[in-house]
Amino acid sequence: MGYNRNVFSLATLGLSTLVLSIIAFGFGAIVGSFLNVVIYRLHTGRSLQGRSHCLSCATPLRVWELIPLFSYLGLRGRCSHCRSRFTARYFGVELLTALLFVLTMLYFATDVVLVGIFLFVMSLLVVVFVYDLRHMIIPDEYVVALTLAALGREFYSAVVVLGTWVPFLYSAFAASTGALFFYALWFMSGGKWIGFGDVKLAWPLGLLLGSGGVFSMVVFSFWIGAGISLLLLALMKLSARSGGKPFLPFGLGTLTMKSAVPFAPFLIVSFLTVLFFQVDVLALLSYDFFL
Ligand SMILES: [Zn+2]
Repeated sequence: MGYNRNVFSLATLGLSTLVLSIIAFGFGAIVGSFLNVVIYRLHTGRSLQGRSHCLSCATPLRVWELIPLFSYLGLRGRCSHCRSRFTARYFGVELLTALLFVLTMLYFATDVVLVGIFLFVMSLLVVVFVYDLRHMIIPDEYVVALTLAALGREFYSAVVVLGTWVPFLYSAFAASTGALFFYALWFMSGGKWIGFGDVKLAWPLGLLLGSGGVFSMVVFSFWIGAGISLLLLALMKLSARSGGKPFLPFGLGTLTMKSAVPFAPFLIVSFLTVLFFQVDVLALLSYDFFL
């Protein structure tokens, strides 16, 4: 009997997890397609209202062409009227947001307040990620919103749930230490290694991870940055050798050792890795060197 009941509850747990994931994925894809509009119209003076249309021939998109992810696949990334290509970024943003929403839903499933806060955080991070990649700028209002969300999360987790300010203060101290480190790098390099926007971004991200995660986030962001930079340099060398034009993804153009590379994407990937997978740099190091 007990055995049967266990199997039954495992099956329902698996099913509810699956249903929750599908709902989160669909919701994330819809939010992602809204974020595409936000990213496209951010700082261009265009309003968020108005029907989406093809950028080449201005034909308004039909209703089924507004369905996230599927319409891009169905149209094979082209306008149904003039056949000009839509940027794959639209699809990427929708998919990324959908996956982040699934992770958030599964990770924080037991606490509806945290789910809400982190869905908001993920949406902000998607915009910052793409915007910094394209323009090398982190919009201030997104850092402010992120900071408010992080403060809200800390207040909720510490004061409301645990009834004490102590974890809040620890997290704030840890976040400040991390941000101070980035500030020192920014100051020493005269803004060449990282931008001041990265310094400002590091504080709310650090606050969200708390004292246990800030150090890992900082170190891991440099590992990812170094890894990606070397990979891009190697890609460029390869494509140059094969006689073609140097090819780089994301419209980064040509890259040299001295090129400024947007740092926020590395910081964000590092943040997400530490948040969802509890990557502990110290544990990784001790495993590599002392075992
Ligand atoms: Zn068109």
